Amino acid sequence: MKIGVFALQGAFLEHEQALSRLGVEWREIRRRTDFTDGLDGIILPGGESTTQGKLLHEEGLFEPVKEAIDGGLPVFGTCAGMILLAEKLSNDQNVYFGALNVTVKRNAYGRQLGSFRTELDFKGIGRIPAVFIRGPYVEEVGKKADVLASVDGNVVAVRQKHLLATSFHPEITDDLRVHAYFTDVIRGKI
Ligand code: GLN
Repeated sequence: MKIGVFALQGAFLEHEQALSRLGVEWREIRRRTDFTDGLDGIILPGGESTTQGKLLHEEGLFEPVKEAIDGGLPVFGTCAGMILLAEKLSNDQNVYFGALNVTVKRNAYGRQLGSFRTELDFKGIGRIPAVFIRGPYVEEVGKKADVLASVDGNVVAVRQKHLLATSFHPEITDDLRVHAYFTDVIRGKI
């Protein structure tokens, strides 16, 4: 199995480390020529979604990646990656890949309380540590998406077939179970 980790901007190194610890091969995607056949899934990391969206267009990556996602390529989006996957943003006019049947609120926890560490119950995994960094949350979940985790009544993890998205950053904890969950999604195990 080989996973493409988008490395245009943001927290991609930690995803690479998590995949290596799981024994999963990965490749950094920075330019159009990095995004070739032979990838079993991709990770859209946290960072700044507006910047990432701009860079995806500038590098000529946006269209081919959108096509691949629409065609069923498994994707795991964390934080800004969740924003890029959403069909709608409640406080931003931009829409990026528009694949995930949810409405997402950017910077949903405000500037002061935006970053925190907690524990949550993740459906199919159990209790996991979760780090939030000026994260979004899901305000509305459409029919096609399933809720995997919530914090204080706010949805922070969703799955829709080949799409997995979390508001938080599993890659910056030692717990590898969400990445392992994504590899199970790729293998069609769950
Ligand atoms: N606040 C960022 C955004 O809106 C997301 C934060 C993150 O990815 N850690 O793009």
